[in-house]
Amino acid sequence: MPELPEVETVRRGLNNLTTKQPIQKVEVLLPRTLAYPPNLEQFEQGLIGVAIAHWYRRGKYLLAQLESEQSAGWLGVHLRMTGQLLWLSQDCPLQKHTRIRLLFPHNQELRFVDTRTFGKFWYVPPEIEIQSIITGLQKLGPEPFAAEFSLEYFAHQLSNRRRHIKTLLLDQSIVAGIGNIYADEALFKSGILPNLVAVNLTQIQIKRLHQAIIDVLQTSINQGGTTFSDFLDLLGVSGNYGDTALVYGRKGEPCRLCNTPIEKTKLGGRSTHFCPSCQS
Ligand SMILES: [Zn+2]
Repeated sequence: MPELPEVETVRRGLNNLTTKQPIQKVEVLLPRTLAYPPNLEQFEQGLIGVAIAHWYRRGKYLLAQLESEQSAGWLGVHLRMTGQLLWLSQDCPLQKHTRIRLLFPHNQELRFVDTRTFGKFWYVPPEIEIQSIITGLQKLGPEPFAAEFSLEYFAHQLSNRRRHIKTLLLDQSIVAGIGNIYADEALFKSGILPNLVAVNLTQIQIKRLHQAIIDVLQTSINQGGTTFSDFLDLLGVSGNYGDTALVYGRKGEPCRLCNTPIEKTKLGGRSTHFCPSCQS
């Protein structure tokens, strides 16, 4: 599943390739990919003839500010489990799981391919508040790189919580954008067992974890996202964080610090990787 670094990598590619050119045609091959508006024609009418001014990211949401003569609303995209945005020539044969095509000048297109079909698109007209349509935005906690995600904020969020720390890291209302991969990586980096109850973490552990979250996300962004979930960037190139993962996907392999075999367990229904020696 794409997490913050992958979505951020896609966002940067989208800003380089798709902005300042009018969308000429819209093809929706799987109507239920549209979260809003439910009416296919309204979606097409909202997008045709407008250009994308800029792509933003909030958590794992991609938000394109649209413009024509003036403000033209927003296009929202969530990749969910398997969604991929690809910048291609329109002549490129359609992938089996192509769901939406936005056709641009010079025979180019932005193509949305999604095997599992959980990915969503929203068109938000200019007169409507974006959070009232893309309601998931209302529940998001701070961005991990924002000043709001301070050590004090994080410590306060963990106080009195009786959930496992791993499960808490996946809660998008505490900090936005962390998924299964980076939760495991950050917990290893800070030497904390995933099944510790949040309220029992010491101040030192909280401080280490706070820094590790920022570090693992930044490292992955610098490397163009991961390869764990068949992630491809906009031009179909995979990231390379997979070569340097500390624990994720390394069950049975020697820990990079102490050579103890990495263990894999289930926590809150999610596969969880950790080193039983380095983490306590
Ligand atoms: Zn170890």
